[in-house]
Amino acid sequence: MSSGEEVAVELLESDGKSVKVELRGVPLAVANAIRRLIISEVPTMAVEEVLVIENSSGMTNEILAHRISLIPFVSDIDRYVPPEECTCGSKLGCERCVVRYVLKAEAGDQPLTVYSRDMVPEDPNTSVVPVSGNIPIVKLAPGEKVELELYVRVGRGKKHAKWQPGIATLYESKEGPEKRILFVESFGFLEPKRMILEAIKILNKKVKELAYVIKGGEQHA
Ligand SMILES: [Zn+2]
Repeated sequence: MSSGEEVAVELLESDGKSVKVELRGVPLAVANAIRRLIISEVPTMAVEEVLVIENSSGMTNEILAHRISLIPFVSDIDRYVPPEECTCGSKLGCERCVVRYVLKAEAGDQPLTVYSRDMVPEDPNTSVVPVSGNIPIVKLAPGEKVELELYVRVGRGKKHAKWQPGIATLYESKEGPEKRILFVESFGFLEPKRMILEAIKILNKKVKELAYVIKGGEQHA
């Protein structure tokens, strides 16, 4: 650290949905980089593609697909990778880059509300599930029907906000100008602590890449 000050981190609050961390001796630029990486680059999982087999509801295919894409999924980012980083090179994807779901519902004599819990995974043992089963998707009038195939993939907030894992804010502590508080709230994709750790991992990787490029530059000079 340029100031020579020792780095100290203290966990002030943690409740599974959010964490509040006090940072001491961490330069503002580094703390802010972590905050920005949480929002834009920490990977999560959401429905990237919707294949409409049938939709006789009052909702257009586009709006239906958009609503489904905004449902957060509990994200297994140790197992799954973004499709563009997967070695399979397949458009359909493989067991490392896609989780398939089917949503099939039909209203009988009565109107029917279709919820996130009605989405059925191809693999019943998958850990990648909607964070809540109670998210309403579409209301079907009697006789209306939807049948969809859903492709859940890893993505990042910088590609589309639907993958943004939560919110992260940084502010000065009231106790002194050298102390900063990082507050992170998860939308449910990942544990808030994991969001911070993942952001630090990404920052480390970027610094290593930078060092590599600079070293390479020296070799060729
Ligand atoms: Zn793949």
